[in-house]
Amino acid sequence: MKIGFIGLGIMGKPMAKNLLKAGHELCAFDIVPAAVADVVAAGARRGSSPKEAASGADLVITMLPNSPHVKEAVLGKDGVIEGLRKGTIFVDMSSIAPAVSQEVAAQLAAQGVEMLDAPVSGGEPKAIDGTLAIMVGGKEAVFNQVKDVLLKMGSTAVLCGGIGAGNVTKLANQIVVALNIAAMSEAFVLATKAGVDPAKVFDAIKGGLAGSTVLNAKAPMVLAGNYKPGFRIELHIRDLQNALDTAHAVGAPIPLTSQIMEILQALKVEGHQQEDHSGIIQFYEKMAGTKVRKP
Ligand code: NAD
Repeated sequence: MKIGFIGLGIMGKPMAKNLLKAGHELCAFDIVPAAVADVVAAGARRGSSPKEAASGADLVITMLPNSPHVKEAVLGKDGVIEGLRKGTIFVDMSSIAPAVSQEVAAQLAAQGVEMLDAPVSGGEPKAIDGTLAIMVGGKEAVFNQVKDVLLKMGSTAVLCGGIGAGNVTKLANQIVVALNIAAMSEAFVLATKAGVDPAKVFDAIKGGLAGSTVLNAKAPMVLAGNYKPGFRIELHIRDLQNALDTAHAVGAPIPLTSQIMEILQALKVEGHQQEDHSGIIQFYEKMAGTKVRKP
């Protein structure tokens, strides 16, 4: 399949390389020319614009930071929309506002182009391994046409509903992750202040009902005082802002999300926005006047 791939950052680069490995023909574009070098060395053609990357492609994929970047690359000057032909499928794998996915899809539909929103969970290691969890919104018939290609980048691809449903699912994912980290932080600070080793608490509870993938991934980081990203606090702020906006638009109050948003904002004020979201515990440590560490 001929694929145009736009956005070769932390995630896009390994995803594009996995498509090349699977034998697809790729034309790659990023506004930072150096970002494309690795993918070109692995066999991709360098595109000079989103329009050129999309020209002649059967499938166009974007992996960009947020909603404004997707709108610019797709609908802007020399954008994907200018290079697409009727029948090309467009898949945006960025994490963006569901309403923007719907807006972009409507503009593309006017040109006979079908779109899926297909954000991912798993981070750089799973992007490299090709084992991302992919959550998809769009028409089933379109999903079935590209599912095999998606599964070269991920180990699961689940159609969650119509266009925008992929990004709604991603917001749900981000709420669960943020609240899990906050719950872990409260629990570990409580244990520390009560004189119980938080590492023992982790060992004791991880196999029980409180155990989770988030706990297993983030507890060792917190116990080591290691907040190297991973997933940056500033990106989680963006996701929770999208979650709050979407929730308010559909009439779903999400009070716990608004509390964790304020905790993230406080951490940002103190300059922690580039750290991993496991750094949420620093808010609790400061309030309680303690540090949670493996002794
Ligand atoms: P990144 O910032 O590393 O990469 C984004 C790339 O897009 C950059 O190379 C940038 O130069 C390029 N870009 C920006 N605007 C552009 C434009 N108009 N045209 C072409 N290229 C443009 O970001 P990332 O970590 O790869 O994340 C991409 C998306 O995946 C985000 O929505 C993010 O939330 C999501 N995501 C990231 C992770 C993670 O752990 N990093 C995990 C899951 C999902």
